[in-house]
Amino acid sequence: MLRYTGVPRLENAIGVDVEVLVRTKLDFDVAYIENLCIRGKQLSGALIPEHRVILVEAFDIWERRRFTLAHECAHLVLDFRNAGSPSLFESHGDSFICAPDDIGTTEDSPWQKRREVLANQFAAALLMPGRLCKQLYVENNSIDDCAGALGVSRQALQIRLNQLGLRA
Ligand SMILES: [Zn+2]
Repeated sequence: MLRYTGVPRLENAIGVDVEVLVRTKLDFDVAYIENLCIRGKQLSGALIPEHRVILVEAFDIWERRRFTLAHECAHLVLDFRNAGSPSLFESHGDSFICAPDDIGTTEDSPWQKRREVLANQFAAALLMPGRLCKQLYVENNSIDDCAGALGVSRQALQIRLNQLGLRA
């Protein structure tokens, strides 16, 4: 998808502007909610396809909000839009609600966990494209500078660089 449509960038022309991407390419709205809570559960993000909106915890730091948005984007693209399996969605009440623990790792059932892990991998690849990461890291050799340029947390970048086989 991204390869063919072009990716909106942040003002620094490096980091991916995931919010603009969601709004313009996926045609979903983004709403930042303070103390986001659904069905009694504290959340980092939620995807509500019925209303074409992604909800994000407003009190999280900017980098975290971006990762959450990219994570929900993954549910939209991987689990909903192209899944060819609406039942997948129905089984979860037509929405994805993602707790802080989901965005990073874990959940109760293995299937749920796998979905969350995949969503995190997708989010990481979206915000930290392999070639761009390598290029930035080689040029700067500074985790903080690269993380700043990409608009991601230091921790997220370290994990990504390790995955890419670059020592972090
Ligand atoms: Zn999730």
